[in-house]
Parts: sequence; structure tokens; C-alpha cells
Amino acid sequence: MKFRTAMPRRAATAFVWMLLPALGLFPGAVDAAQGAAAEGAAEAEFFRNHYFPNTEVLAGNEMRVIALGTGMPGLRKSQASSSWFVELGNGDKFFFDLGTASQSNFAMLQVPLEQANKVFLSHLHIDHAGDLDALWIAGWVAGRYEQPLRVWGPSGLTPELGTRHFLEMMQKTWRWDIVSRHGKLPAAGAELEINEFDYAKAQTVYAENDVKIVAFPAPHVMDGPVSYKLEWSGLSFVYSGDTAASTLYVENAKGADLSVHEIFPLPAHLRERFGWNDQMADFIGNVMHTSPEAAGEVFALTKPRLAVGTHFYNDFDTAQEVQAAVRSTYDGPLALARDGMVFNVTKEDIRMRMLVGSEHTYLQAIQAEQFLELERKPGTGLSDWLRDSMLFKPDSMELVPQELSR
Ligand SMILES: [Zn+2]
Ligand SMILES: [Zn+2]
Repeated sequence: MKFRTAMPRRAATAFVWMLLPALGLFPGAVDAAQGAAAEGAAEAEFFRNHYFPNTEVLAGNEMRVIALGTGMPGLRKSQASSSWFVELGNGDKFFFDLGTASQSNFAMLQVPLEQANKVFLSHLHIDHAGDLDALWIAGWVAGRYEQPLRVWGPSGLTPELGTRHFLEMMQKTWRWDIVSRHGKLPAAGAELEINEFDYAKAQTVYAENDVKIVAFPAPHVMDGPVSYKLEWSGLSFVYSGDTAASTLYVENAKGADLSVHEIFPLPAHLRERFGWNDQMADFIGNVMHTSPEAAGEVFALTKPRLAVGTHFYNDFDTAQEVQAAVRSTYDGPLALARDGMVFNVTKEDIRMRMLVGSEHTYLQAIQAEQFLELERKPGTGLSDWLRDSMLFKPDSMELVPQELSR
């Protein structure tokens, strides 16, 4: 068992390059052979440190976990809200939470939407469920034509606070969108499969294809939130969602291969940057969430192969202090998550890289044969007076070859 991180060598290389001018040696002064060797080494390092979607097949016993969102409810360019994508060597794929803005990171993976239709929600805060509608409808538009979106999530203190109610209301909210696409997209992709389970009971909520997912309660703000543990082929991934440090997490996450636990920003950062006072920082940072020191305690008690901290603003000028706080209580393997971090997990190794993907991906568009075969209801849609307002007017709104008149 070994833990590998690419950073030290990379930092060392950068340091050497910075040192050269001080010694009167400039990169341009090296001869051609040395230059080519350095270039080759830099290229090899770049490929070693980065994950390029669609260029690797997972081994039969390998798990890949990708951070699609590592931030908080306040949106920012550098970090989407919470979302983690897990791919298994047997072909299965799972989302754990879909925080706002995380779907644009998912698009970089170019995973066919048909294969990414299982979502496990930890709770219904917007920074964990805000992009669910995006995956549901935009995912339908972008290629999930045959599969419903399957969603698992906890009940609440009352039926209105549960996942089922949330999803049923979401269907009502997006009624215009769904109806407007009738006959233009296969109907199956607009369906939602709702799997609500009792938040208060630790239990297996998913067991298919040798994959087991257990949900267990998490103390966070009020009743309802859960954490998840996925087990497959002797590997385990545990995701806290939002939680205060909890004995339930400690019981369920012992010895996990990858343990992704929330860490809330330090009180000093909350005071200086969020404008909070001591009382707020203490209450929200320690009672509703997990402080870096408490997260370290959880990691120390559970001893994962790799501990991952997420859910704080991970910046060049905050990471060191957060890391030092975690380190005050935990000295095992640790990563502080950023969007686009990729973890490949096998029994022998945990490899950590950064995603390099295109920001200009094209997702699948419906094919002509499929489009032409769809059942359409005639005479619904646009009123004649609105059709008359079109500068280039079609003969009809039906799908028939037509002349456009002005
Ligand atoms: Zn929350
Ligand atoms: Zn949250």
C-alpha cells in the first residue's frame, strides 16, 4: 500500500527553474540536447500529473473519484458547490450531491449522459442539490433519452421536508420546459425515479451489480441529512455531505479507502472574509459543520487510506492555515480538495491528479432518425398570432418541409 502525490517533484522542478537565472544560467543557454531532454521530462511530468477524460479505461478492480464541486453555497468561479462523481471498473457511475454549478465541471468529463443517471443526495441545501434540475433536464437534452434520472435521498421531519416532495415540486416547477420538449425528445429521459428512504436509520439504500451504498444520519442544522458509504470490489468511498463531527461517521468510515469529509473555513477566515463575529463563526463552524481541527480528529479516529477535506474556500492564502489546523490533530495521508481533483483507487495504490478537459465540449444531440420517429401531438404550442409575428413565417408549426414567407 502506498500513497503517491505528484506535488513534491513538481515543486522541486519549479524551484530548479527559478534558481537557474540566479546562478547566471538561463534556460536558453543550455545546449540543444539538454533542452530536448528537459522538454521531454516536463512533458512526461505533465502527463503523469493530469487526467485527460476519455483516454483511459478503468481496470476491473479500480475506482475513480472526481471532485466536481468542492465549494460552499456562495458561488465562485474557482469552486462549484458540492458534487462528487464516482466511476467503477464495472462501468457503474454515481453522483454524490449535485451542488450548483457542478454540472459544467461534469461536462468536461464527456461521460455519456445515458450512463450517468444515478444521484445520491446527502440533503436538500442548494449547495448540494442546486444542479439536480440541470442534470435532469439539460442531461435529457444532451443525451439521456432512454433512462430516467434515478435519485436517492433522505426523508425529513415532515413529508414536505423530504426528497420525494422536493422532486415532485421540481417536476411541477419545470412543467413548461418539459411540455415544450414533448415530441422533440424521447419521453423516457424526462422521467424521475424517486427513491426516498428514512433519514433516521443507517441502512443499505442501493444494492445492484455488486455495488452497495449505505446511508447513515448526519447531524447538520436539522434532521434529514445523511452521509453515504459506497462499497464495491473490496474498495470503499465515504462521503460525509454536510455534518458536524459525528460518532456515526466514525463508526461507518473506519478504514475507508477514500474518506471525503467536510471541513468548514477557519474562524479567522469567517471573521475576516465573511464578516462574521465570534459567536456566528463558532456556531456555524463548529455546531452546524466541522472545523478543520475536528475533521482531523475524525480522520485520526477512522484512519482512511486517504483523507480528503472539502467544503471550504480552498485558496492560495487559506489552504496552508486550514492544512495546519487539520494537521494539529491528524498526521495521516491528506488531500484538500479542489474542483477537478481526480483520485484513482485500487487495493495497491491511490493516485491523485488534476483534470484537464475542454471547456468547449459538445454534448450529444438527438439524431435525425430518432427525432423523426417521435410521437407528436398536433396543434399544441404556438398561437397563430405569435406565428404571425415571425419575420420569416412557416406555413405551419408541424414538422413538414415548408416555405418561409416574409
Ligand atoms: Zn448543508
Ligand atoms: Zn453544504
